[in-house]
Amino acid sequence: MDCLFCRIISGEIPSSKVYEDEYLYAFRDIAPQAPVHILVVPKLHVSGINELDEESASIASKALVAIRDLAKREGIAESGYRVVINTGRDGQQSVDHLHFHLLGGRTLAWPPG
Ligand code: 5GP
Repeated sequence: MDCLFCRIISGEIPSSKVYEDEYLYAFRDIAPQAPVHILVVPKLHVSGINELDEESASIASKALVAIRDLAKREGIAESGYRVVINTGRDGQQSVDHLHFHLLGGRTLAWPPG
């Protein structure tokens, strides 16, 4: 298994877990870009948005519900936050396992670079 996030999900590589269920694993980013920076990852390996099929798309929709609840738990639901899926080379995706960034806890700039 040479996928970094599959190794994190399996526990082979330690992570700061904030949520887990049958389909999803969520943990704090190792290089946070905001006071709250959580990665929400489907346990099923799918490389990115371009590779979504019916099963993984359904899990991705569960990730949005988990993000809603995490935002509330982290205290950023009311102030606001951003959800990002970097995709491919120009999108600056660095790990080829679909993941949602949940960023908040400060005023985020727009547009992104
Ligand atoms: P991407 O650049 O693919 O959108 O996001 C990958 C994210 O994974 C980056 O924000 C990066 O900081 C994070 N990351 C990379 N390696 C690790 C790690 O070993 N542990 C954790 N918790 N995050 C990681």
